[in-house]
Amino acid sequence: MDILVINCGSSSLKYQVLNSDTEEVLAKGICERIGISGVLKYTPKGGETEVSELDMPTHTEAVKYVLDALTNEKTGVLKSLDQIDAVGHRIVHGGEHFSEATLITEDVIKAVEDCNDLAPLHNPANIIGIRACQAVMPNVPMVGIFDTAFHATMPKKAFLYGIPYEYYEKDKLRRYGFHGTSHSFVSKRAAELIGKPYDQCKTVVCHLGNGASICAVENGKSIDTSMGLSPLEGLIMGTRSGDIDPSVIQYIANHYNKTLDEVVEILNKKSGVDGLSGVSSDFRDITKEMEEGNERAKAAMDAYCYRVAKYVGSYITAMHGVDVVVFTAGIGENNSYVRRYVMEYFDFMGVKEDKEANSVMHIGEDTKMTTDDSKIPFYVIPTDEELSICRQTVEVLKNA
Ligand code: ADP
Repeated sequence: MDILVINCGSSSLKYQVLNSDTEEVLAKGICERIGISGVLKYTPKGGETEVSELDMPTHTEAVKYVLDALTNEKTGVLKSLDQIDAVGHRIVHGGEHFSEATLITEDVIKAVEDCNDLAPLHNPANIIGIRACQAVMPNVPMVGIFDTAFHATMPKKAFLYGIPYEYYEKDKLRRYGFHGTSHSFVSKRAAELIGKPYDQCKTVVCHLGNGASICAVENGKSIDTSMGLSPLEGLIMGTRSGDIDPSVIQYIANHYNKTLDEVVEILNKKSGVDGLSGVSSDFRDITKEMEEGNERAKAAMDAYCYRVAKYVGSYITAMHGVDVVVFTAGIGENNSYVRRYVMEYFDFMGVKEDKEANSVMHIGEDTKMTTDDSKIPFYVIPTDEELSICRQTVEVLKNA
């Protein structure tokens, strides 16, 4: 089957077409600056990336341009839209409604809308993407894959905030977690690599991208993860603060005459290693500046790695042990300095870095970062959220 995977952000739309039998990517790309100006990037399998500036007031036009590119006579990879057997939509917040991928119906869309207050930046964009696809492909089945679903197995002790219980009961204010597609994909692969059944494996997954979260996966189930009600909780990220004393919000609001929304915007977009270093949110820049002696870049790196290590340690305790720790996403897969720094914290547990394996770039490859006599293996496992969405879409259709 040919599956179109759609991932709508507030002003972007990432897409891929995959053949689910061969798991080959037939084409991929992104629409950026939707609502501002509009850029379509399109890369067919084995071909050059085409970049076109196009008028994209909304996601509806973006979807139309993507489909035009996919069926274009010269560089298109599909003869017609009829070739698309299903669309898998990434949906950020499923609240407590969804514990697995689901065939999209009007009831499902209504339930996603009910979660809009929990993810005001993300869910509305996801729904626009679904509606735009339905408008041009009314008879093609659509499947929703929720970032939160994998964490539906978290026990209450892990998802409750220490605030009055009625906020949970009435408003569903609780921890949900994100990056579920990635944590699930990578933890399954980790079990294969260490040769242990998934349902008997204790894994800590460190998804370290611009957004970053850590997940404790015990016996195939997420039992805790570092993001919470929103993706703002947990690790220090590219531009997000991660865990913070709520009094800091009050202080900034009072002392700098900011509204609550403005402070939250600062915590989401101007904080993290970007805010700390004053250099950039990109770890390539942070690492370079740090090596050239920039003290703020070093402070940002120290704080970042320290918090990753603290979470990994706490999740090992939460699971009463660990079989494997995994690094994934842009920083986890590519930044050997971060991996070394984090692994060093676990020397007391007998973790030994394989210096050569960790120093060499293994782009796109599963690679062990520790020596054979290390007490706990640490791996790099490249994540592939689109492939995971494609697989889950096919699974839902099989069972429909
Ligand atoms: P997103 O959350 O936007 O998907 P990514 O997973 O792409 O983020 O991660 C972005 C981060 O990964 C950046 O800080 C960047 O420095 C780092 N990164 C991505 N690719 C590379 C690379 N080839 N070499 C070093 N760092 C990289």
